[in-house]
Amino acid sequence: MDIGAVKIQIESDFQNIGSAVSLEELRLKYLGRKGIIAQLTGSIPGLKKEERAAFGQAVNALKKRAVSLIEEKEKSFADSLNGEGAVSRPADIGLPGITQELGHLHPLTRVIDEICAIFMRIGFSVVEGPEIESEYNNFTALNIPLEHPSRDAFDTFYLNNRLLLRSHTSPVQIRAMKAHKPPLAIVVPGRVYRPDAVDASHSFMFHQIEGFMVDKSIKFSDLKGALEILAKAVFGQEIKMRFRPHFFPFTEPSAEVDIRCIICNGKGCSVCGRKGWLEILGAGMIHPAVFKHVGYDPKKYTGFAFGLGIERIAMLKYGINDIRLFFENDLRFLRQF
Ligand SMILES: [Zn+2]
Repeated sequence: MDIGAVKIQIESDFQNIGSAVSLEELRLKYLGRKGIIAQLTGSIPGLKKEERAAFGQAVNALKKRAVSLIEEKEKSFADSLNGEGAVSRPADIGLPGITQELGHLHPLTRVIDEICAIFMRIGFSVVEGPEIESEYNNFTALNIPLEHPSRDAFDTFYLNNRLLLRSHTSPVQIRAMKAHKPPLAIVVPGRVYRPDAVDASHSFMFHQIEGFMVDKSIKFSDLKGALEILAKAVFGQEIKMRFRPHFFPFTEPSAEVDIRCIICNGKGCSVCGRKGWLEILGAGMIHPAVFKHVGYDPKKYTGFAFGLGIERIAMLKYGINDIRLFFENDLRFLRQF
């Protein structure tokens, strides 16, 4: 290949160039891995010894020239796009914009926020705890002995090293009471786990809110007062509430709390199973054995605790008949809230 001829060729090629696309073609033609410069360089070892140095220098000069021609052309193309040479186009303000879809809160998050806000207004703090718990915090410290049948109701998924997925938010009671001295007024929202088969009213994972208050001379009437505030704020001022005696290992006395059915107003319907009442939560006075586990003196302190299922409240509040809808991420469902 004759270097002189290549030199002339380069100059004329770049002179006649018309666009950035053909600039790229020329770059490949001269500077590409199999381009002319590479071929020239590759031919050096075949030359006579005394010719090599001069030939190499000539190839180098050629390469430099090609690089500077490319840079020159690139700059002139860029200038013509930005500068006076560019075709001026007015912005088309009639074009539709690019819309960002606005998200919103999940119905369960709404109910959690609403209930937390109700209790914050009457002086409660919101505290959260880990979903992986010790067997001790989830059972033993809450007066649920290892071999007791009451443990079945709070069964869960077990991990290694006596750890498990918490089956209620109550372990956070233990954590909070161990970390702080009374007076305490705390609500605990969070996920809990139970090995339930999934159907319209059961899920292996659901949400609870736990609330508890400990101080000197906290009475059952304080519990009733707090729950009345909750029920009226969530379901309206007219709502009626009733307490039924019940058993929970961690409270004594214990009660299940019903509201007058909001669908049939107490007449009896399919939602309330013809009873006219809907169970919404469990509650009671904190068991002295629980206080002993956290180092509180049961003679000095009393307290109440309650726990409710968020899904249950959301289903009643919004008239949802299948718990699975909350977790399927179907936008047709979620957009309604
Ligand atoms: Zn009813």
